[in-house]
Amino acid sequence: MKKQFIRVVLNGNKYYIDREADYAGWADNPGWDRTYPTIAVLGGMKNTQNSLDTFIHECLHGCDGSAYEPMVTQTAKNAAALLWNEGLRYYVRPVKVTNSVRKFVRGAIMAVLTGCNCKWDKLKIDVTARDIAAAAVKVGYRLK
Ligand SMILES: [Zn+2]
Repeated sequence: MKKQFIRVVLNGNKYYIDREADYAGWADNPGWDRTYPTIAVLGGMKNTQNSLDTFIHECLHGCDGSAYEPMVTQTAKNAAALLWNEGLRYYVRPVKVTNSVRKFVRGAIMAVLTGCNCKWDKLKIDVTARDIAAAAVKVGYRLK
């Protein structure tokens, strides 16, 4: 079967998300000059908290290529734990899209970023939370 890349925009940076990559996780730096749109590669997405952590982690890099690594690591870890505990799950073939899922993910990521001491301003936090929430829904995250 042909691989399907999912197109998302993270803080104005275009990415194609590869859900079937067999390595740990990667986001091309948005600042790199590329002939083809930058690709965010994930660690073969699975329905696990760890995979959700990797997804959020790489999306944060996609939103800000110079984001401080320990901040990205901690934010993704906390957001993934919160979202996983509230029932966010990954579906290879998601059946329904609801705005409530997007709102829920956005709110959770916004809350974690607001409390993370990253010194991002409100607008940047808002855009980041919005775009990661939209990407999460697009790749197949839903509430169970
Ligand atoms: Zn990283």
